Amino acid sequence: AKESGRNAYKFFTASMNKTVTARMKVELALRRAVKNNEFVLHYQPVVSLKSGNIVGAEALIRWQHPTDGLVYPDSFIAIAEETGLIETIGQWVVMQACKDLKNWHNQGLKLNVAVNVSSRQCKQTSATPIAEVIETALAENDIQPNHLKVEITESLLMDNSKEMISTLQKIRSLGVAIHMDDFGTGYSSLSYLKHFPIDVLKIDRSFIEGAIDDKTDASLVEAVVLIGHSLNLKLVGEGIETQQHFDYLQSLGCDYGQGYHISKPIPAQAFIELCLNKR
Ligand code: C2E
Ligand code: CA
Ligand code: CA
Ligand code: CA
Repeated sequence: AKESGRNAYKFFTASMNKTVTARMKVELALRRAVKNNEFVLHYQPVVSLKSGNIVGAEALIRWQHPTDGLVYPDSFIAIAEETGLIETIGQWVVMQACKDLKNWHNQGLKLNVAVNVSSRQCKQTSATPIAEVIETALAENDIQPNHLKVEITESLLMDNSKEMISTLQKIRSLGVAIHMDDFGTGYSSLSYLKHFPIDVLKIDRSFIEGAIDDKTDASLVEAVVLIGHSLNLKLVGEGIETQQHFDYLQSLGCDYGQGYHISKPIPAQAFIELCLNKR
C-alpha cells in the first residue's frame, strides 16, 4: 500500500541502504548464475532405519560461484524467493534431480529423490506452475512418480493456504508424495495435518539434537512419531549426527533417517559410488 511505502521510505536509513545494495548485488549475481548454469545439486542419503539401507536422497542446491567457491542455500534462497528467481531455479532443480534419478535407475539403483519446493513456487499465478514442471520432468526422464518426493516447509503453509493446498493436491495427484519439512518448527498447529495433503513428516533436527538429554524434546519426538503413525504418515528423522541419535530414532519406530552420521550431502557422482559400494 501507499501508506506503508511512504513509511518504508522514511525508515530507509544508511545502514539499510547498504543492506539493500548488498542484496541487489546478490540478485544480479543470481541472475547471472541462472544464465550461466552455476548451480549444482548435492545429495544427502536417506536410509531406512529398519534395514539401514539407502532408499534415496534429498537434493540440496549449491551455487558454484566463479570466485567465492561453493555457496550454500541459506545465503541465496531467500533472495531468490523475494526476486522471483526461485521459479527458474526451482524448475532447474526438479529437472536436474529427475535427470540424475534416471541415471541412477539406469544403473540398476531403485532410489528415490526428494526436492525442496518453496512457497513462492506454489503460486497459482505462476507462468509455469510447479505441478506442470514436475509432470514434464517425470515424463521426459521416464520416471515413475512414486520415486519423486516434494518437500515443503511447515511455516510457508501459513500464507495462502488455499493456493498451497490446491498446488499440493495437483502434485499429489501426479503420484508424487508430499513431505512436510522441519516439522515442529513452524507456526503450524496440529490441524494442518488434517487440512494439508501430506504423506511424510520430517522431524526437525533441533528436536533430535535435544532428545538425548532433554526430556521435553524427547517427549515431543516420541509424540510426533505416534501422531504421524496414527495418521498413516511415514516419518523421517533429520540431523542424525551420532550412533546414539540413530539408535534412538530406530527404537521409536521412526521409518527413515538422514544426517551427517550417515553422510553429508555429496555430489551426484559420489552419491552413486556410495550406493554401488554398499550394494
Ligand atoms: P532443509 O531442507 O531442512 O535441508 C537440511 C539441511 O540440513 C541441509 O542444509 C543439510 O546439509 C543439513 N544437514 C543434514 N544433515 C545434517 C546434520 O546431521 N547436522 C546438521 N547440523 N545439518 C545437517 P543445506 O544444504 O545448507 O540447506 C539449507 C536449506 O536450504 C534447506 O534446509 C532448504 O530449506 C533450503 N534448500 C536447499 N536446497 C533447496 C532447493 O533446491 N530449493 C529450495 N527452495 N530450498 C532449498
Ligand atoms: Ca528439506
Ligand atoms: Ca529439514
Ligand atoms: Ca531447514
